Amino acid sequence: LTPTRDCVFCEIVAGREPGSFAYEDERVVAFMDLAAANPGHLLVVPRAHAESLADLEDAVGAHLFLVAKRMAAALRASGLRCEAVNLFVADGEAAGQEVFHVHVHVLPRWDGDGFRVDAEWTWPKRSELDAAAAALRSAYERLAG
Ligand SMILES: [Zn+2]
Repeated sequence: LTPTRDCVFCEIVAGREPGSFAYEDERVVAFMDLAAANPGHLLVVPRAHAESLADLEDAVGAHLFLVAKRMAAALRASGLRCEAVNLFVADGEAAGQEVFHVHVHVLPRWDGDGFRVDAEWTWPKRSELDAAAAALRSAYERLAG
């Protein structure tokens, strides 16, 4: 988990690339996303390089989400247009992750803003839901133990 000059978020955290910072502390920073879905779209980013959620220390991950929660409240109080908020994490390339340094998107939303997350929604049978829950319980216990 060392800073890398190949990582644009490490460069922003180090001050070698420009960033518009909304928040900083010893573990995380929040800065405005250059590709904004809506004005006020920001990213909360751990200072230490971590490619994925699995690489993030639990305490840093907990703090990352705490700051994302507080930034959502800040957005609502900022005067920027914000009727609602989405938190969004892309963890892995197939999930749409483009910068491989963990980040939480905090997105101001309003009715009709055009932002969409689409899916082929299905309605699984109860037996399928139960089987998925069992697989997850087993994996969680394995990982936590
Ligand atoms: Zn990085």
